[in-house]
Amino acid sequence: MEEVSQVDVDAGRGAALGGALPTQPGELPLARRLRSLLTWPTTDNDPVAHLVRTHRGIHANADASVLRRAYTIADNMHRGQFRKSGEPYITHPLAVAEICAELGMDTTTLVAALLHDTVEDTRYTLQALAEDFGPEVAHLVDGVTKFDKAFYGKAAEAETVRKMIVAAGKDVRVLIIKLADRLHNMRTLGVRSAASRERIARKTQEVLVPLCDRLGIQTLKRELDDVVLLHLEPDEHARLARFVHDRPGWDGYLDDVVARARVALRRSRVDAEVAPRPRHLYSIWKDTVAGDHTAPYDLPRIVIVVDGPATDCYAALGAVHGLWRPVPGRFKDFIASPKNNLYRSLHTSVRGPQDRTVEVLIRTDEMHRSAEYGVAAHYRFPRAAGRAADRADELAWLRRVLDWEQETVDPTQFMESLRCDLAEAQIQVVADGRQVVLPAGASPVDLAYELGTERGDHCLAARINGRLAPLSSELEEGDVVEIFTESDAESGFEADAAPRGPRREWLGFVKSPHAQMQINRWFAEHTEPGISIADKVRLGRATIGLALRKHDRGLASDLPLLRLSEELGYPDLETMLVAVFDRTVEPDTVVRQLIDLVDHRQ
Ligand code: MN
Repeated sequence: MEEVSQVDVDAGRGAALGGALPTQPGELPLARRLRSLLTWPTTDNDPVAHLVRTHRGIHANADASVLRRAYTIADNMHRGQFRKSGEPYITHPLAVAEICAELGMDTTTLVAALLHDTVEDTRYTLQALAEDFGPEVAHLVDGVTKFDKAFYGKAAEAETVRKMIVAAGKDVRVLIIKLADRLHNMRTLGVRSAASRERIARKTQEVLVPLCDRLGIQTLKRELDDVVLLHLEPDEHARLARFVHDRPGWDGYLDDVVARARVALRRSRVDAEVAPRPRHLYSIWKDTVAGDHTAPYDLPRIVIVVDGPATDCYAALGAVHGLWRPVPGRFKDFIASPKNNLYRSLHTSVRGPQDRTVEVLIRTDEMHRSAEYGVAAHYRFPRAAGRAADRADELAWLRRVLDWEQETVDPTQFMESLRCDLAEAQIQVVADGRQVVLPAGASPVDLAYELGTERGDHCLAARINGRLAPLSSELEEGDVVEIFTESDAESGFEADAAPRGPRREWLGFVKSPHAQMQINRWFAEHTEPGISIADKVRLGRATIGLALRKHDRGLASDLPLLRLSEELGYPDLETMLVAVFDRTVEPDTVVRQLIDLVDHRQ
């Protein structure tokens, strides 16, 4: 229900422009010569006109000549190449640049978008590109090209995404060009076979959409969502499009709601803009399916953007709740507790005019911008206040992913971690007096690692809502959790003389890739490389010996150990000793059972 969102980016302009391309005489003059040769006539036929207008509309002082130069080179290099639809190839990079322009990206990004396929698909070299457009553009094009190279290989998916993340960590513009590239390819998938449409749509849905979500670029995500739905559920897409297109009285009703809300806000002296906030098709479809509705399920929705500080949002909320009765249980404060992608807003539902339920989103101007454009907001609104701090926060997730990347050798494993981290289901718990976001089903161990590597490595026990609970417990939304570690002397949990470190069995229940990675890292660091089974057996035996000595006991023979290994279901004694060394079984547990066995059977 909390889909953040809803003004659709104007679709399909690029494709429309494709038909109006001028034909140019002559074949492929040298790139270098082009620069001096070309001035573009400003006619209706100018294929770059729309791009320049969109770009200038957001960045008034942008340099249009470099866009024309890039277009001319791309056009010449791709001359004679066609898309599967039969259109000249240049329509594609032009459309990608237009998507980037609509997002408000800078001129450098647009130039790179125009040229993004030249190095891969034409004889234009990266070196020539660097000479013509400078190292920054070359770097961006190179980043995009590298994804594509990996994309068609065997280990395709995992490797591609890994490269995307690495590149994005260095320069997020590479990722934005790639997302725009995918969006345009998805829009024009219609000419492909049904099987390949489905394959590409699924990949987009699994990885790119969540990635887009994490980067907070909702305008792009909504479009990707809808185009994925179009390819995966064409009939449903058509049904919803029809439903949204002709529902009688809908617009009039929303206008009435907006007008009344404006009056109430003015009376409460809250300076704000109010607008209808339609859901995108995918969002309606999701709610329809989730609620098992036969007819498409969609509630009227408005957004209130206050012109003031965050406290004005609560004043606006008061005004709305004073006007219409709130629906119980529907208020959500994503300002006090932002989502993982830093989305902030107040959400409420009220009984509006004619007793119909109306959803209301309330946010500041700055919250609105970052909800719509996410990391792209920094390019769209370069002068916006608080920029540096926000940006650090937004990229924190990306940085963490990059850390795993460095620690994971196997791209498939990295991919698995990423998929898990991108999964939508999340819970928030309270620890150390703050909110912590974890994947659904997370355990206290996940939380401990989230609080810090040391806390994770040495956690011993947890208290959930005041009660002691096993480390393998599943945490739930809103739980208040305390983590005890070996160094918490006052915790009453007796610690071994030597720090114990993580248990291997934790890997069986931790949910976050971060915790998994840290546990694996610990074992990689604490296991001697190439240690032999014989050594493990010896060290396992020594570990038990040490633990026994704490109880003032010792072993005269292997017999009790042998019996215990049978009793515990190990194939032989050696296997149990290796398990003790590997910590898949606790030495203390073995020793306790050993003492029981000896004391009661002999
Ligand atoms: Mn492309």
